[in-house]
Amino acid sequence: AKARAGGSIVFYEAEMDQQIRDRRALHHDLYNALSKGELSLHYQPLARARHSVSGDDVTGFEALARWIHPTRGFVPPSDFIPLAEESGLIVEMGEWILREACREAASWPRHLQIAVNLSPAQFMHGDLVGLVHSILLETGLTPGRLELEITEGVLIDDFDRGLSLLRRLKALGVRIAMDDFGSGYSSLTYLQAFPFDKIKIDRTFVMNLGRNQQSSAIIRSVIGLGHGLGISIVAEGVETQDQLNFLAVEACDHVQGYLLGKPAPIPTYDAWVGRLPYA
Ligand code: C2E
Ligand code: CA
Ligand code: CA
Ligand code: CA
Repeated sequence: AKARAGGSIVFYEAEMDQQIRDRRALHHDLYNALSKGELSLHYQPLARARHSVSGDDVTGFEALARWIHPTRGFVPPSDFIPLAEESGLIVEMGEWILREACREAASWPRHLQIAVNLSPAQFMHGDLVGLVHSILLETGLTPGRLELEITEGVLIDDFDRGLSLLRRLKALGVRIAMDDFGSGYSSLTYLQAFPFDKIKIDRTFVMNLGRNQQSSAIIRSVIGLGHGLGISIVAEGVETQDQLNFLAVEACDHVQGYLLGKPAPIPTYDAWVGRLPYA
């Protein structure tokens, strides 16, 4: 048994070595990805929660980062965003993402919003408020059309700094959404203390609709809670008509998910961003 345990440890170490080398290589490539133009943004529509959603129910898009590696191909953001976070690269990358998304959205009809994800490192380091301000001026995007998505984890580390940042961002006129609500340490205190305009209910709850009673009860409560606080609600990860029907009946404000549209480069949504008559 001892030999077996030893053997598996050796095997495990070799595997870890490989993983570390792999991450180093990936990190090295990520470092150059920006300047080599390998990063791009995809956009996923958000729409009013109607039983039947069409192009004119679309209220905006969420920008999602994509990395096409020259040899590995598509690298998911769940792999490279954490890597960029750890190395500090996210600050430069996040600046590029924000600028690119705002520039794109500035060319859309004025009723369409753009949602951009902020990572914890971006939130906690550097002059985020100054950056957002200058990108708005530079791109000419109306502040109210920009929505910044943050996860509650960001606020746990430093409550005072978080609150001060959110207030200053709000003072610029931008909107703030709490992302992945319910997936972490969601605390009602945060909803009361921080000036959120929107709550995005995590995909796992929507996924479990119809599978267990708890999910529908939780979604119903979050909608009620949000509305009581004057906060609008988005359900993420809507994939089926049944899920959409439930959300429409429960007066959820917005929906996002594959049922409406997957994240895609903007030409896919040209009709929805008004470059062509509505499809
Ligand atoms: P997120 O912010 O929660 O983004 C939503 C994720 O759910 C996206 O995954 C999207 O493709 C996926 N999704 C949307 N609708 C559906 C659906 O109906 N079914 C399923 N199964 N999935 C759906 P994606 O693009 O792989 O991004 C994963 C995460 O990576 C994001 O989660 C976000 O945390 C992070 N991320 C992506 N782009 C950026 C970025 O530009 N900056 C930062 N800081 N993080 C980003
Ligand atoms: Ca998001
Ligand atoms: Ca989310
Ligand atoms: Ca997520």
